[in-house]
Parts: sequence; structure tokens; C-alpha cells
Amino acid sequence: MKGKSAPEGGGGKSMSMISVTLPDGSVNEYASGVTAGEIVIDIEGRKHDCVAALVNGQQKDFSAVLESDCAVEGISGFSDDGIYILRHSAAHLLAQAINSIYPDAKPTIGPPVDRGFYYDFANLDNFGESELKAVQKKMHELARKNLTLERVVCTESELKNLFSNNPYKIEIMNDKLEAGEGSTIYRQGDWYDLCLGPHVHSTAKLMHVRLTSVSSAFWRGDQSKERLTRIYGIIEPTKDALKATLSAIEEAKKRDHRKLGKDLQLFHVDEDVGQGLILWTPRGAIIRTCLQDFISEHLTRQGYHQVYTPHIGKLDLYRTSGHFPYYQDSQYPPLVEKEMMSRLASEGCSCGELSNMMAAGDIEGYMLKPMNCPHHIKIYSSQARSYRDLPLRLAEFGTVYRWEQSGEISGLTRVRGFTQDDAHLFVTEDQIADEVLGCIELVQVIFEALGMDDYRVRVGLRDPDSSKYVGSSQKWDLAEDACRAAASSLGVKWSEEPGEAAFYGPKIDFVVKDVIGREWQLGTVQVDYNLPERFELQYKGSDGEMHRPVMIHRAPFGSMERFCGVLIEHFAGRFPTWLAPTQVHVLTISEKQVDYGREITAKLKSKGVRADLDDGDHTIGKKIRMHRKFQPAYMLILGDDEVNNDTVSIRARNGEQKAGVAFVDFVEELLEEIKSKKATPSLVPAKEE
Ligand SMILES: [Zn+2]
Ligand SMILES: [Zn+2]
Repeated sequence: MKGKSAPEGGGGKSMSMISVTLPDGSVNEYASGVTAGEIVIDIEGRKHDCVAALVNGQQKDFSAVLESDCAVEGISGFSDDGIYILRHSAAHLLAQAINSIYPDAKPTIGPPVDRGFYYDFANLDNFGESELKAVQKKMHELARKNLTLERVVCTESELKNLFSNNPYKIEIMNDKLEAGEGSTIYRQGDWYDLCLGPHVHSTAKLMHVRLTSVSSAFWRGDQSKERLTRIYGIIEPTKDALKATLSAIEEAKKRDHRKLGKDLQLFHVDEDVGQGLILWTPRGAIIRTCLQDFISEHLTRQGYHQVYTPHIGKLDLYRTSGHFPYYQDSQYPPLVEKEMMSRLASEGCSCGELSNMMAAGDIEGYMLKPMNCPHHIKIYSSQARSYRDLPLRLAEFGTVYRWEQSGEISGLTRVRGFTQDDAHLFVTEDQIADEVLGCIELVQVIFEALGMDDYRVRVGLRDPDSSKYVGSSQKWDLAEDACRAAASSLGVKWSEEPGEAAFYGPKIDFVVKDVIGREWQLGTVQVDYNLPERFELQYKGSDGEMHRPVMIHRAPFGSMERFCGVLIEHFAGRFPTWLAPTQVHVLTISEKQVDYGREITAKLKSKGVRADLDDGDHTIGKKIRMHRKFQPAYMLILGDDEVNNDTVSIRARNGEQKAGVAFVDFVEELLEEIKSKKATPSLVPAKEE
């Protein structure tokens, strides 16, 4: 198939030819004027899964006409680039369908996004989920019509004419285009959109589309502007891929930590306390405590010192660190000093004046801490330090506060107050490499224990063309090499991301893939040359001279809230025995087993097992149903046989049962399972065995 028969038109010597390099490196001659799509068919055959072409590395429509030598390859609909083109094209199809049902709706913007696409419409009020079906039907109808998506180059005045009844598109043009500059539209049937493309060549490529939800949005994301209706959808290249994605979405809904958090009574958010402020209820607090204890164990092993610091600090501290008066948008407003408040009041200062002073940073007071670093720095500088003290590793489960926009707040993952698994390492330059490695080892140990074995690491490096970075380039080279070396020593996927470093140092990010294939960005390890400079930190070197330490910030799980949210979804609420809020739920069949039930529950508790007893009057079937929804690791069913023989009948979460187990044996095996932090409860053999 590999491109033997170039379309040569009429042949003859007058036809000029171009040389096209194909993906396998071979070079073919084609008549000038051949389209990118024709070459892709030549390379891949008629039944290809490509949605557009890459010409000299640039994405082009299949209709792109080629008139000079170039390299061409197809973009598969299954590739990252290809799926974006499908999503973007599906957004056009959505807007076309909307306009054919609602001619007055005004399309504004409709981009591809991570999991699908959306389009925002003005003038589409009272549109809800129940309207989606008809729109989707229309989309399929338009897809079946096999309409060509035609790219048309337009002048400025043509564009202004075409979009004269859509002020949003006019605003985009005025914003993006120079005066007198034209652009392109994409036309399909009698509908068109302002767009640079590229797109699929036909609506027939857009059959496997599904609209998923409706929400509201604001024009340009600005709450003071018009309210728009946002419609979300997903698209895949094939029917099977769509089916797989839909079932993954279903599974994700079942695992949603906001739903499970409520069902399992793990946490609560109360409007009276405040949005995004998590109340850890007793069952959730158990999980958090177990995790913190587990992490602490490893911190001790790695030579960390745990510290405690208050939730607020003086504004001056944050002036030095650079957090104030900058970044005020992402923080709670400062707590103004009492004396200053009364002085300002007596001077007749108005609220407007006060808020101007706050914005300018012209006040005295305290701030809810947005980060723990300045507090830890003050612990470092509370004593004269020598090279013998380094590395100094200070760890704290430190609670910080950030002002997330209310629209952004979500469950445990986007909150306004959270507890970081934070630590700051004060090190000499020579120690950076080893210490970064130590931070990563900790992450590895914990991921392993939790069965999160699919993760990757991103190393954020300098942008070689930028000068925004503090510290000498020689120091940066060392730190970047240390991060690279640490990442490559892990034996997991890692990538370098130039330009992703903070201005004060390179960093390492952890991205975990959960059991249903979703990626979660957790925390980071960051090398920092900046704060030691700003706080003028020093230590006495072995040469007797004073030197500047380097800081490493690390919060490998980001925050306990976020990490627990990810874990709830990862385990779908079915926690390993060592983390399960209730490890054993003891159920009696009748009142005859009450004494035995009380006795063994007390024994379990005395061994440190989280055990509960239900010796009430309900039938055993009802008791099982009632307690099953809380997902204890095990239920013990007690009948007469169990009482008479000092045994228990163990019921696993999947309903499998193992009868006649001596109670002492059960306790021994249970304690071993807890101690070894087994990822799944396994005291009842699975069915296959
Ligand atoms: Zn577009
Ligand atoms: Zn920090």
C-alpha cells in the first residue's frame, strides 16, 4: 500500500512534481496540488483512522493543497492530537445542531478540553439536561449527512458581515485580529464558525458523540458579564471506544468521593462553617490518622523532625517571603491589628480606604498562613546553624488556607483550608541530590503500600530562553541534574518539562493513575534558592565561613484532604483493612449469641482492632444489609455453632463466607493483615480457589 501510485493527473512534462517524505522515511513524487488527505490515503489505505494530517510537523486539514516539497503523515483519531481535533470538530457539530433547533442561540466559544468538549451559548435560556437528547439526535442526523467541513479564507469585512448578528464573535475578532487582518471560517452545510482549524474533513467522522451535561458559565469567565449556557460532550473515534469511555464515566460517578464521602460518613461540609472547609467526621478522621501515622513512621526513619506551628503569622513575615501584598487574590483577607483598627476608626477611615490599604499592603496585622515555609524558616534561624546540623529536615502536617473561587470548590480536592503533608529540608548544595532522592523514596514506599503502582514523574526545568530565574545557572544545572537523576532512578515513567520550573528552582511532580485510568496530580518536591536568600539564612561551613543553605519544599501527597479524596475513589470506598474505619463488624443471629458477641468484640478492641457489635433484634439478613454499606473489612456472623466451638463465621465484602474459624486464629491472621498493610482484605479466600 505504501504510496506507489501517486495521483499524477494527466501526466506529461508540464505537470510540476513535489517530493513528499513519508513516515517510514521514503520519498515519493506527487503532482503539485495534491492534497494532504490524498497522501494520507496513499500511506494508510482507504480505511485509515486519521482525522487530519501533519505537514512538516504542522497540523493541516485533509483539504490542504501541497505545492512544495514536504513531509506528511496522518494524525490518528486515537492519538492525543487526533482526539483533540475530533473534540474540536464535535464542538462545531454541537453548535450547528443547537442553531438548527434554536436559531436565536449565539455560539460564543467551544474548545476541546481534557475529557471531551464544550460549547458556550448566549441566548439559550431555560436549556436543561432534558433538552440534550433532541440536540444529540440532531447531531447524529447532521453527522450522517456527511457534510464537508470546508475551510474558507475571509477578509475582515467579510468576517464582520458573516458574524454581524453575533457580538461575541465580533469581540473575539476585535481582540485577536489586527485592524484589516482577515481570518478563516469553517463551513459545514449552511452553518459556519470563526475558526483556525484544523478539523476533520467530514461530519461523518463525528458519529460517536454523546452529550453529557449542561451548566452555566460567564462570557470570558467573568462573573460581571453575561451568563451563558455551557453544554458538555464527549466523542471517540469508534463505537467501542465511546462505549468504553461511557462505562469509565459511569464507574467514576460511582466512585465519586463526594458521593462516597457522604454514604460512608467520612467527611462533611457545612454552609455555616464555610464552603471548602472540611469537617472530618469520626470515620474519615480514622483514615486520615492512619495515613498520618504511617507517613510519620517513615519520616522518623528518614531522620525528619516533626514540628508544630500556628495557623497565622504576621504580615511582615509574608512581606519577607513575598506572599504579601502579592497573591492576595488567592488568600483570605488579612486580620487587621486591633490597635490599627481602632486608630483607623478614630481617624474616620472608610471601608473603601481600608480595602485600598489592604491591596497596597499598607496595614499591620496577621494572615492565615497560605504556606508553612516561613514558619519553618524561623525554626531554622532560631539557632546558629553549622554544616553539622545539615541536612535539617522539618516536617509538619501543616494546615494552610487559600481563597479558591466558589465555582472552583469541589469535595476534598479543591478546598479553602487543607493540611499539607509538608516538610522543608535545609541542605548544603552537595546534599541536594541525596535529599531529593530521599523525598522520592518516601513517595514510592507509600504508593506501593496503597497499591498505586501506576504513576509517573514530571521534572520541571528552566525555560532556556527566559531570564526570570533566581540563582546562578551553574547552581541550576546541579539542581536540575539532581532532579533528573532522582527521577530516572525510580524505574517509572518520567519526563522533562522545560519551562515548568518555578522561578526559584526546579521541581518534581507526581502524577498517579488510579484503577480506572484517571490521572491525579498529587504533590511536588521543589528545590528553592530564593527563600534562603530572602530570609538571609546561613550556616557555618567546615571552612569556618558562612554559607547560604538551599531549601527543599516537599509535600508529596499535596494535602491530606486531596490525597484522601483520591484514595476514596481509588478504593471505591473499600479500604484495605489497616485503613478501614470499621475493621470488623460483629453480628449476632439471635439473642442467644449476645454474650459471646460482647466478649469477642471486647477482645478485638483490646487488641487495638476497630470493632463494632450489632446485637440488636433485626434479622441477620437485615443486619448485613445495614452494615454492608459502610464497607467494614469483615463481618463476623455468630450463631449457636460459633458460640459452642469458640469460632466465628467470616463474611467478606463480596459476600463470600468462611465458617468454623477458631476465634484465636482469626485474631492472629487479622492482626498480621493489619500490620503488613495488605492492600486488600484476604482472610476469606476468593471464589476461584
Ligand atoms: Zn473551531
Ligand atoms: Zn514550602
